[in-house]
Amino acid sequence: MSAILEVKNLCVDYGKVRAVHDAAIHVEPGRIATVIGPNGAGKSTLLNAIMGVLPAASGEVWFDGHVEKGTIASRVADGMSLVPEKRELFATMTVEDNLLLGAYVKLKGRASNADAMRAEVFRLFPRLEERRKQLAGTLSGGERQMLAIGRALMARPRVLMLDEPSLGLAPLVVREIFHIISALRESGVAILLVEQNARAALQVADYGYVLETGRITLEGPATDLTNDPRVVNTYLGLG
Ligand code: ATP
Repeated sequence: MSAILEVKNLCVDYGKVRAVHDAAIHVEPGRIATVIGPNGAGKSTLLNAIMGVLPAASGEVWFDGHVEKGTIASRVADGMSLVPEKRELFATMTVEDNLLLGAYVKLKGRASNADAMRAEVFRLFPRLEERRKQLAGTLSGGERQMLAIGRALMARPRVLMLDEPSLGLAPLVVREIFHIISALRESGVAILLVEQNARAALQVADYGYVLETGRITLEGPATDLTNDPRVVNTYLGLG
C-alpha cells in the first residue's frame, strides 16, 4: 500500500528558531502512524505545518500524489482533517451543532452528506448521540475529545491528524478514546497520531516516529519501537 500522506524534508521555524528539522513521515490508508516525544519536541508544530496552520520554511507535504501548497480550507477539501490539541469546540453550541459545523466545507471529489456522516459519528460515539442537545461546554473531558474527533470526521477525511487526544484524560477514558481511534482504521482513513503518552500510542499504531528537539531520531514498526531499549528507557519506563 502506498502512502496517502508523505512529508518530505519539512522544516518549520518560529522566527530565527528552527522548531522542526527535516522531518520525513508517511502514512498509509487504513494505518495508524504515531509521532511520540517529550514536551516541546515540536509535535504540534509538525502537525500544524502539515495542515497549513503554520508555514513551512522548506520541504513538501505530498497528499495523494500532489504537493499541498494551499490554505487550510483547501487541505480540508482535499481530505485532511486535524483534531487540535485544545479541541476548540464551540462551548455554547450543542453537540449536534458542533458536529454540523464540521460538515460546512466544500469537499473535492467526495460527496458531502451531513446526515449520513452524523449518523456514522453517532454510531462510533453513542455517548454523543445521547447528548446531542447538550451544550459542548458542559461535556466531560472525554466526551469533548469524542466530539472534537467526531467534528473532524464530518468532513470525511482521508487523513485524520490527532494532536494529543489523551491530554488531560483519566486512564480509563484514554483507553476508550484509543479503542475508537483503532477502530477508525477499519474505514480506510489514514491516521497520524501525535502523543506524549507513548505507551498508549504505540499500542494502537502500526508505525512510529520518535521526535526529539525537532528531529526524528528513531522510527520503525510500532512493535519494534515498543521493544527498543531507547524507547523503553526514555518513554515507556517500567511496568
Ligand atoms: P507539547 O506536547 O508540550 O505541546 P510539542 O512537542 O507539541 O509539545 P511544540 O508545541 O510543537 O511541541 O513546540 C516546539 C517548540 O517550539 C517548543 O520549544 C516551543 O516552545 C516552541 N514554540 C511553539 N509555539 C511557538 C510559537 N508560537 N512561537 C515561538 N516558539 C514556539
